[in-house]
Amino acid sequence: MSVFETGLKKGRFVVGQCSKCQKIAWPPNDFCSGCFGSLLWRDLKQPGTLLEHSQKDGRKFCIVEFERAVKIMGVLIEDVEPTIGQNIQLANCGFDKSPRFEFSVVPEVN
Ligand SMILES: [Zn+2]
Repeated sequence: MSVFETGLKKGRFVVGQCSKCQKIAWPPNDFCSGCFGSLLWRDLKQPGTLLEHSQKDGRKFCIVEFERAVKIMGVLIEDVEPTIGQNIQLANCGFDKSPRFEFSVVPEVN
C-alpha cells in the first residue's frame, strides 16, 4: 500500500513533492518522474479549480485540478449547479478498493 493510499484510508489527501526540483508527483509515485529525486509527502493545498462536470443518475461528477498538477474526479455533494473555473474544495476522501473523492463549492467572497 502506497503512502497516498494509506493517507486516503485515514481521510487525508497527501501529495508527494520532489525534494530536489519541487515537481509534484502525479499520479502518485515513489519518486520524482522528472529527476528521480525522493518525495516529501504533505497535505494537498485547497481549493482547486473546476475543469469539467457532468451529470449521471442524479449525481454530479466533477474533474478538479489542484496546485496546477493534481487532477481528480469525484462527486459534488452539494445540490448546486457548478461553473467551470469555480473554486472547489475536496470535502471528503477515502479509499475502499478504489479512491473516493467528494467535492463542495467554495463560497464566493465579495
Ligand atoms: Zn524532481
